[in-house]
Amino acid sequence: MPGGEFYRRGAEAQKILTLRASYYPTLRASVPLWGKTYSPPRLRTSAVKKTYSPPRLSASAVKKLTMVTTLSGIEELVWERLSLIPDPEIPVISILELGIVRDVHYDGEMLEIVITPTYTGCPAMNLFVAEIKAAMHDQGFDNLKITTVYSPAWTTDLIPADAMERLKKYGIAPPVKGSDDPFAPPPAIPCPHCGSEHTSLVSQFGATACKSLYTCDDCKEPFEYFKHF
Ligand SMILES: [Zn+2]
Repeated sequence: MPGGEFYRRGAEAQKILTLRASYYPTLRASVPLWGKTYSPPRLRTSAVKKTYSPPRLSASAVKKLTMVTTLSGIEELVWERLSLIPDPEIPVISILELGIVRDVHYDGEMLEIVITPTYTGCPAMNLFVAEIKAAMHDQGFDNLKITTVYSPAWTTDLIPADAMERLKKYGIAPPVKGSDDPFAPPPAIPCPHCGSEHTSLVSQFGATACKSLYTCDDCKEPFEYFKHF
């Protein structure tokens, strides 16, 4: 049974998990997910740590891994595994926190993962899909279908507050929601280094199209701003 395979590959999964965690400093407690809240089991004891310590499955998580046999239980583990895939462009947040995964269905044979693209033409989208496929194949799901839906549209408002905080610590200014008034001036983008709101746009595009480049007029540090979508 595919579910059984899921657990037999536990050691392999743990290895990948450790690898990913080397550039994934923290695992959030819960993720708002299209109207519902997803709270994965805690795999790590600490939140943001200066020095990296590899994650370990808690005793209860291990027990759960060996005991779960229901389809919904397996779906839950798929969510959990997805929560460990970092955004390839911004490795401090997961693709789950980014809000691109909408739904997971497992009927005992086929695993379907429903995703929604970020902004149109995002070059990372193919990478997201490849990461998801690789992670699921690692878990023994060979019969995998990725379905793309476009509505409701993706927005950076789906990124949870703690992930926004992590972005800032990473040196990227998180998305700032501007006024709905089209004639209002654009919002100030606070410097992620010193917090100053005296910042200037240098370039509409940073390292990736979803970010622009700013410089801080106070601490003089350049920084990237994750645009609001
Ligand atoms: Zn500054």
